[in-house]
Amino acid sequence: MGACVEIVTRFAPSPNGPLHLGHALSAIIAHDLARAAGGRFLLRVEDIDGPRSRAELADEFRRDLAWLGLTWEEVPAQSTRLASYAAAAERLKALGVLYPCTCTRKDITEAGAVEGAAGLIYPGTCKARPPEPALPAAWRLDAAKALALTGPLHWDDALAGRQAADFTALGDVVLVRKDLPASYHLAVTLDDAADGVTLVTRGADLFAATPIHRTLQALLGLPLPRWHHHGLLRDETGEKLAKRRGSPALAQRRRAGEDGLMLAEQLRLQHFRLGT
Ligand SMILES: [Zn+2]
Repeated sequence: MGACVEIVTRFAPSPNGPLHLGHALSAIIAHDLARAAGGRFLLRVEDIDGPRSRAELADEFRRDLAWLGLTWEEVPAQSTRLASYAAAAERLKALGVLYPCTCTRKDITEAGAVEGAAGLIYPGTCKARPPEPALPAAWRLDAAKALALTGPLHWDDALAGRQAADFTALGDVVLVRKDLPASYHLAVTLDDAADGVTLVTRGADLFAATPIHRTLQALLGLPLPRWHHHGLLRDETGEKLAKRRGSPALAQRRRAGEDGLMLAEQLRLQHFRLGT
């Protein structure tokens, strides 16, 4: 990728719970990387998780980011993009790389599935049997067929360097949920392309899933971004701060009168010490 490519980063929170320190760090890193390069920093609300998505939380997110001293351009929320997800799923079905799966989570665990780097590794039950049209179906990406179509792929992480994009070890992941026209993997890949994101900045917890996104880009002919996976804030027990029970939400700290600009500086310093 040439040096002339504009840096476009994004922060894409889901309004199904308040933002915590880990979210703040992600937003600050994405913001700073864009600003340092004279680029653009986008906010995208990932609000397709049904009844758990709450519009008032998205308003809180905007107040939190402003309190941290960040400025952004907001792009359309995921709930306005469902037609584009359905269209992409049809293209993937036409390529023959999706198959319907009627398994429940219980079916999958009872089949002896083990936890992988991106959730339970699907044991392939539905791949080996005729579809059951009477049952609600998710659609899974056939990893082996996808790899046969794309050939070996690579992706570039700003910190970890060039990576092989083989995701066969993750199993056949869901791209279309039973209740939604996309899963996280499909939606985030399409949205980043539609928004012109050139540097996908997010926590290291999503590093392992990136080969799936790289493969979808190849299958759907989407532009190729770079990635920047940053280290996660952890407490003294090693637990992710974003999830820590009892760790106050940003909104709570904001309402208590804490100085958001100072908090942002502390997070920048901590991050600088982590070296990521
Ligand atoms: Zn299945």
